[in-house]
Amino acid sequence: MAATPEKPAAAAPRRKVSRHRGEGQWAVGHFTPLNGNEQFKKDDDGLNVRTRIETIYSKRGFDSIDPNDLRGRMRWWGLYTQRRPGIDGGKTAILEPEELDDEYFMLRVRIDGGRLTTEQLRVIGEISQEFARGTADITDRQNIQYHWIRIEDVPEIWERLEAVGLSTTEACGDTPRVILGSPVAGIAEDEIIDGTPAIDEVQRRIIGNPAFSNLPRKFKSAISGSPLLDVVHEINDIAFVGVAHPEHGPGFDLWVGGGLSTNPKIGQRLGAWVPLDEVADVYEGVISIFRDYGYRRLRTRARLKFLLADWGTEKFRQVLEDEYLKRKLVDGPAPAQPVERWRDHVGVHRQKDGNFYVGFAPRVGRVDGATLTKISEVAAAHGSGRLRTTAEQKMIVLDVAEDQVDSLVSALEALDLRVNPSPFRRGTMACTGIEFCKLAIVETKARGASLIDELERRIPDFDEPITINLNGCPNACARIQVADIGLKGQLMLDKNGDQVEGYQVHLGGALGLEAGFGRKVRGLKVTADELPDYVERVLTRFQEQRESGERFAT
Ligand code: SF4
Repeated sequence: MAATPEKPAAAAPRRKVSRHRGEGQWAVGHFTPLNGNEQFKKDDDGLNVRTRIETIYSKRGFDSIDPNDLRGRMRWWGLYTQRRPGIDGGKTAILEPEELDDEYFMLRVRIDGGRLTTEQLRVIGEISQEFARGTADITDRQNIQYHWIRIEDVPEIWERLEAVGLSTTEACGDTPRVILGSPVAGIAEDEIIDGTPAIDEVQRRIIGNPAFSNLPRKFKSAISGSPLLDVVHEINDIAFVGVAHPEHGPGFDLWVGGGLSTNPKIGQRLGAWVPLDEVADVYEGVISIFRDYGYRRLRTRARLKFLLADWGTEKFRQVLEDEYLKRKLVDGPAPAQPVERWRDHVGVHRQKDGNFYVGFAPRVGRVDGATLTKISEVAAAHGSGRLRTTAEQKMIVLDVAEDQVDSLVSALEALDLRVNPSPFRRGTMACTGIEFCKLAIVETKARGASLIDELERRIPDFDEPITINLNGCPNACARIQVADIGLKGQLMLDKNGDQVEGYQVHLGGALGLEAGFGRKVRGLKVTADELPDYVERVLTRFQEQRESGERFAT
């Protein structure tokens, strides 16, 4: 029968798509790609782009790069194109990707567990100065990011990083991203258990393994045995949190399905206790569930949290035990509420071996190659050669003898790296923002830094732990939903009716065992110019009205 001519699109009835028929889960036979991302991943594994970068793109230049590699597979090796300079935030949503792309890249170096040696940091600093115009940001996932990277230089950068045991493998993309780890693993006096061997084993089995390099979307993970709950376990796809089992001793409480961005969810406990030497098995089971059952039709539903929401924790644990581990997990206790509000390890602290560790704060994670090189020299002169990055955009020098502490603190402060920072410098984080990010609508890093300086000047006696997080768009790279004051970048009209950069305000978010999302105060937006006045007003009012023991979020 001849096909009937199509009616105008406007007349087409809206058909309801059955979620269960069409979420694109491999485990129920949906192997036909349902969108462009799934198609390019099926066409060629993201890990394979490395050979093309080394043999073709780095030799023939930016214009030779296949678009599916440029905006897709290159992420598997930590490369994103950065935003073309001079494009304002109003154009972010309306320009085509190729109009936003600069011919330079952001390159993310993964630092699993935040562990660095002074030699590695020296190399990171040198690469920054030689190939990245001096840029280097410490991210809130313990990574270091460069900007202004040319494709021609990428093989040389990889060679230098890999010579000191660092890599960019699966630093971005639909992959198992960096594994967060307690920055004081193995040294803290109050540690419940050292998760380092588990991080090493997960890295060895999973990272760069083609069996796990085509996930529905990113998979974020965290392992910490610190009672401070110092790896934002609540917002990872999988997290192992140190607990002491009354019969079996120290091990980990298993959490799954956390994540921010749109539709944020706090991870949920499966009620299972996992011993150290079984963490990698359980990790492999959970990431396999995500790969096999995770939703692939819509990018907006392709995180583990959506599968968990549909299944519930009981079914999730049952599938993990029956289909993947082939054994039952041991029931276990929940972690205890930390005694401290700060989880960043900033300041001078005694280690269990009698030495000290010294945590310090740049502004909003922004450093530069020259500073990183100097930090590596200062750390080498005062410690054993070990450093850590934190999930709060801070750094720590380990293994400092008592008689070296004062000298180290002075050397860091001389670099404007504060060991005793104000609450504002300590608690303010900012994402990349409009300077380099193609999704950004507003500026973040410079504004966060100047907000810190303003607040230090205006309310120098403020003494309450406070978190102020700035995002350049509705995504959640700087975790605005779980900050005391979360600032989501957007364009708005000022009092003269002109379109300007501003922020939607979220108040009262928190992590820890009282984790919850900040309230989006209806209509409460501040322009960028008004931001210091607004935050000062909120904090001063809190100072004046707080009752004994009351914290900002209550
Ligand atoms: Fe870019 Fe938005 Fe993430 Fe900031 S929150 S880094 S602007 S995607």
